[in-house]
Amino acid sequence: MNLFVPQQFRQKFPLITRYAKYSTDKSQSKSSIVYFDNAATTQKPEQVIACQQRYYGEYNANVHRASHQLSTNATFAFEKARTLVQKFIGANSIKEIIWTKGTTESINLVVQSLARNTLTSADEIVLCASEHHANIVPWQIVAEQTGAVIKILPLNEQGFIDVSNLDEFISKKTKFVACAHISNVLGRINPIKAVIAKAKSVGAISLIDGAQAVAHIAVDVRALDCDFYVFSAHKMYGPTGIGVLYGKQALLENMPPYQGGGEMIKTVSFTQTTTFNSLPFKFEAGTPNIAAVIGFGESITFLAPLLADIQKGYNLYEQKMVNHCYQELAKIAQVNFIVEGIPDIGVIAFTIAGHHNHDVATSLDASGIAIRSGHHCAMPLMAHLNIDGCLRVSLAAYNTIEEIDYFINCLREVLLEDFSQAGVQVELQQKNHAKTEQLINLRTKEMKDIITLFTTVKGWDSRHREIMLLGKNLPRMEQALRNEQTIITGCESLAWLKVEQTRQGVYFFSADSDAKIIRGLLVIVLAAFNHKTAEQIHNFDIKEYFNQLGLIQHLSPSRGNGLLAIVDKIKLLAKE
Ligand code: PMP
Repeated sequence: MNLFVPQQFRQKFPLITRYAKYSTDKSQSKSSIVYFDNAATTQKPEQVIACQQRYYGEYNANVHRASHQLSTNATFAFEKARTLVQKFIGANSIKEIIWTKGTTESINLVVQSLARNTLTSADEIVLCASEHHANIVPWQIVAEQTGAVIKILPLNEQGFIDVSNLDEFISKKTKFVACAHISNVLGRINPIKAVIAKAKSVGAISLIDGAQAVAHIAVDVRALDCDFYVFSAHKMYGPTGIGVLYGKQALLENMPPYQGGGEMIKTVSFTQTTTFNSLPFKFEAGTPNIAAVIGFGESITFLAPLLADIQKGYNLYEQKMVNHCYQELAKIAQVNFIVEGIPDIGVIAFTIAGHHNHDVATSLDASGIAIRSGHHCAMPLMAHLNIDGCLRVSLAAYNTIEEIDYFINCLREVLLEDFSQAGVQVELQQKNHAKTEQLINLRTKEMKDIITLFTTVKGWDSRHREIMLLGKNLPRMEQALRNEQTIITGCESLAWLKVEQTRQGVYFFSADSDAKIIRGLLVIVLAAFNHKTAEQIHNFDIKEYFNQLGLIQHLSPSRGNGLLAIVDKIKLLAKE
């Protein structure tokens, strides 16, 4: 038995070791990264990266269709991965393992191939309150298509699916029950066996979203007795763009294809009915993501032994880190956990009293710490918890206790560094932030001053400070003006924009947000658009401006700060 040795494990991940020079001395931590966003996607071990490269460099060919050697080699590796997955989750046969793009596509396949063809308006679909959007929206679409009704299983105080009263929600009317094995926000292992058994007892079909489970706990689909189990490779040290739909063979046999095309057919004719291939190929139209499948096989080879033998210590090490992280966070007075109690896997969600989630996340980013803020694709859960978002730390076995301590120290510093306190102004003055001092009338701030300011500061850490300071000085909009008319949709933190126009056709914008970082960015954006005509506004190159300021990464829609949504709204309001 090879025991799990954390330091050796960590060494297997090139990205992790590349950025591992973090230090409690901030001046040395510029290029280091502490990666605590593993629930979004994990890093990849060298053997997975190398395996994909070998495929492209040594035996790249399409699978299943040619009789030449390269294709045979590719097909062999491709199908070997399927067998590895089958064994990994304890499925009966490789016919039950369908390749998809990931969890999301797997759910959509079941919904559109099976649910859409069987549901009626007399039927019910049961989901859970903490589902990821991937396990909500496809069901909402099919409910709209068929008239079926969605019912929601509640959570108990600790964040688990409440199974104390399943009869109230799952009845003879229920045709599908779909819920997550582990929520990507709450980190609790749900009592899915009870839910599956209840679904079965009323003749409903069960689908389990295992996206957050497969990297942390051994899954046995036969023991669970679920009808479908879905997951993505990229959350278990494997490549992106590949995932699995496990389904019981009898169900899959009776389901029509999801998509049509090459490889999923037996015969195609213009005069006779087209016939379909056998399982699993019936559901795999077109050339698959061959390199990703082969890389996925390698990640299973890597992960399976760690999960299979609990004595090795992989899970123990993960749990040790979660305990430590949770306990250290609990010592910070402002931390409010989304649900109390140490999570079952390394997913810890919390808010910080008096601080906006985005401000905390971007401040930590300036110290090289990657955590997530936002709704985590679980907006109904946020609504249930009465919050508009939260912070999430998600750990993997290549993380360390030292990284957690560094994160906690940085978090404490961020909380001390409250930009709304006058003391910061003094501190910043002492640090020669003379330019910032000159930015008095921010409502009419000149673009050239902003450019001067940002060309004199170097590095993300300093730029981030300046943005926060600009945000601090932006006057708040009156409460009454922060309304449905002024709100900017597409921005993850609440933001509002108001427009005025002079008789000369010159525009003046004022804006506000509940996040200081966004307020700072708004100052920068408004400086570019204020006192301009519609034509000047429409011709302005915002990307070039942000590039010049060294802030181009803030224009990515995926950053969640929605700056592009703000720019779009400005352009919409400035009518030519
Ligand atoms: N379900 C859960 C619980 C998840 O955490 C995720 C990914 N965040 C998904 C579904 C969707 O996975 P993918 O984007 O890989 O399809």
